[in-house]
Amino acid sequence: MPVGSSRIGRLVSLLSRRRVGLFLCVRMTNIRYLTGFSGSDGALLVSPDGATLVTDGRYAEQSRQEVCGAEVAITDRKWDEVLKAIRRLRPARIGYESRHLTVEIFRRLSRRMAEKWVALADPVEGLRMRKEEGEIRAMERAAVAASGALLAVLSKGYRGRTESEVAADLEREMKAQGAEDASFRAIVASGARGALPHAVPTGARIGPVDAVVIDFGARRGGYCSDETVTLLPERPLRGLGKAFDAVRKAQEAGIRAIRPGVPCVEVDAKVRESLDRSGYLKYFVHSTGHGVGLDVHERPSLSPRSKDRLREGMVVTVEPGVYLPGVGGVRLEDMVRVAGTRGERITYLPKTISRLV
Ligand code: ZN
Ligand code: ZN
Repeated sequence: MPVGSSRIGRLVSLLSRRRVGLFLCVRMTNIRYLTGFSGSDGALLVSPDGATLVTDGRYAEQSRQEVCGAEVAITDRKWDEVLKAIRRLRPARIGYESRHLTVEIFRRLSRRMAEKWVALADPVEGLRMRKEEGEIRAMERAAVAASGALLAVLSKGYRGRTESEVAADLEREMKAQGAEDASFRAIVASGARGALPHAVPTGARIGPVDAVVIDFGARRGGYCSDETVTLLPERPLRGLGKAFDAVRKAQEAGIRAIRPGVPCVEVDAKVRESLDRSGYLKYFVHSTGHGVGLDVHERPSLSPRSKDRLREGMVVTVEPGVYLPGVGGVRLEDMVRVAGTRGERITYLPKTISRLV
C-alpha cells in the first residue's frame, strides 16, 4: 500500500473514534506526512470516503508528481473550495487543528455552523511520533550532512572568525554535503553570549579563550537533524570546564534512561537529578529534549510537563545545558532513536570534538 494512504488510514480510524466525519488539516508538515506534498500552501480534507488536497495553480504539476492517497483540487479560492466540500459531504462533526488554524479562517469557515466544529489540537502530530524506518534513515542522512559540514568548517579554523561567518559557512557546507537546507538557523554563540540558550549569531569575533556553543541541523528528504556541540578552549575560563563535565554526565544519564515504555518526564528527571548532584541545576533553564521529524521540534517533549511515554521508533533529542550569566554556556545535544530495549544515538560527533579540530 502506498505510504500516503496507509497514514491517512490510521488518521481516519483515529477520527472515527472521535466521531468526526471530516477533518481539516492545515499544518504543512502534517499535509506532507499524510500525502507527500511538499509545497508551502494548501489545505487537506480527510473523510472516511477519501482525502482531497486543495492547493493553487503554482503547485499543479508538483502536486501531480508528489501526492499519494489523495485527490487534488487546484483553485485560487482555497477556503471557498473547502466550504463547498463541507456542503457536499454534510458531516455532523468537523475536526480541525485548533493549534494551527488561524482565528480569522476558523471564523470564516464556521460561520452559521460553529457547533459542528470540534477542536482537535493536532491529531496528526500524535501519529507522527513513531517513525518508520525510512523516516529514521532520512534523519540519519541529515545528521551525516550536518556533522560532516561542521567538521569541514571547524577544520579550516574558527577562532578569529565572526559567529556569523561560521554560521553562514556551516549552512553553505551542509548544502554541499547533500542537505536541501539547514533545518533551522544555526546558533553560534561564543564567550559570554553562550549563556543565551537561543543566541543569534553576531559579528563578534570568536576569541582565543572563548567557549563556543554551536547548535545546528540539516534537512534531507524533508526530515531534520538537530545537534549541539560546545567547543572548549585548552584552558576554559572560570568553571566552564566543570560545567562541561556536569552537562556531559547529565546527558549520558538522560540517554541511558531511554527505552520503550518510559514516561518522558522520567528522562527529564534523570537529567535534572544529575545536574542537581553536580550543583548546576539552577543554571538549566529549558526542557531536556523534544521529538524531531519533518519539524525540528515536535512531540514528544522531554519536559517536566510531558504526558507522553517513549515508544519504539520515536526519535528525541537529549540536550541539557548550563548557562552561567556573564561567563558563558555549555550545551550538548544528540538525537536518540528509541530502539527495542534502549536508546541509540543517531548523531555521532564526539563530545571531545574541541580537542580534535
Ligand atoms: Zn538544537
Ligand atoms: Zn533541539
